[in-house]
Amino acid sequence: MSKPNMSRLHNAIDLLGKLVAFDTTSKNSNLGLIHFVRDYLAQYGIESTLFHDETGEKANLLATIGPKDVPGIALSGHTDVVPALEKSWISPAFELTERDGKLFGRGSADMKGFSACALAMVPELVKRDLAIPFHLCLSYDEEVGCLGVGSMVDHLANLKTPPRLAVIGEPTEMKVINGQKGKFSMRVSVTGTAGHSSFAPRHVNAIEYAARAIAMISDLAREFEENGPFDNDFTVPHSTMLTTTIGGGTATNVTPDFCEFTFEIRHLPEHDAKSVLDGIKEKIISTLDAEMKAKEAETGFEWEEIFSYPGMGDCTDAEAFELVRNIVPEVSGKVSYGSEGGIFEKQGNIPSIICGPGSIKQAHKANEFIEISQIEECLEFLEKLSDQAVAA
Ligand SMILES: [Zn+2]
Repeated sequence: MSKPNMSRLHNAIDLLGKLVAFDTTSKNSNLGLIHFVRDYLAQYGIESTLFHDETGEKANLLATIGPKDVPGIALSGHTDVVPALEKSWISPAFELTERDGKLFGRGSADMKGFSACALAMVPELVKRDLAIPFHLCLSYDEEVGCLGVGSMVDHLANLKTPPRLAVIGEPTEMKVINGQKGKFSMRVSVTGTAGHSSFAPRHVNAIEYAARAIAMISDLAREFEENGPFDNDFTVPHSTMLTTTIGGGTATNVTPDFCEFTFEIRHLPEHDAKSVLDGIKEKIISTLDAEMKAKEAETGFEWEEIFSYPGMGDCTDAEAFELVRNIVPEVSGKVSYGSEGGIFEKQGNIPSIICGPGSIKQAHKANEFIEISQIEECLEFLEKLSDQAVAA
């Protein structure tokens, strides 16, 4: 493969430095970064549309380059990053630092690297006579459950000409990923009755009922493992379900009147997890909850969805996927971690793939980095994509 234009590479690294310098940890506002990108795009005569959250402190940014009446290609990146509180950072987390061909900084791989590459392509894209437009899509609150992107996806889906394809630039080392599991994250609160533990039979033990519910969840998870459904393109080829946190009780000699636990289900894109959850709930309500209430009416289970996002199905037979296949002939499989791909695909009806620079192995830990060669590869990919978008 040929090396990309050196000034574009320089520009991409420079932009990455600017993006990393905004501390866009999900709990913070991302408006500094969004306004920087809006001003950068305005220099090239490109207008941005912002979609704010209800606090007004966070926003998605959408900018279209090229004709507005033709289905385009969405280039999607989330702007937020996970916290950088680890003590073992050897250079400041929010200051892009180069060492040995690698660029260190929080978000360098996950996933400001892709956004920087897309932005570095802009001067070239505006020069070209594009027959197919590009939609730059920057979102907020991905790392806390893909909470932000929905408003922008709804807007895209309702366009007269919605995008024909979305490229989600999560770090895949520029491999093409054609599927992703969906997820439900749930919180369950169990209320019992307290009292001196020597009178335990008179009370409703919240922890013990929680434990029985957890055992049911675990049994069902084993059933998925044994009986599927299966999709061997995933490293873990079936849906998974597990309890992730638990807390409860007050003292060693008090029957616990409260217990709270969280559990998740990560499901194959075609596995109807909603009905799985409804099934467990029903079973717990008709057995454990009923038993508790028979003893004491005020006790029982309460459920809360913390967040959920859909899985991303395989779009390799969509016509627009040819644009990608022409650049990367091989599809590399499916992933079990989350991305906004499921929302583009299921909520927006936009065929989606995941393909971006850097490695997921470097994400979410101290001394996160992206190799400069990955930035080069991404620029090359985007250049080849835009070659195909130019008017014949
Ligand atoms: Zn990410």
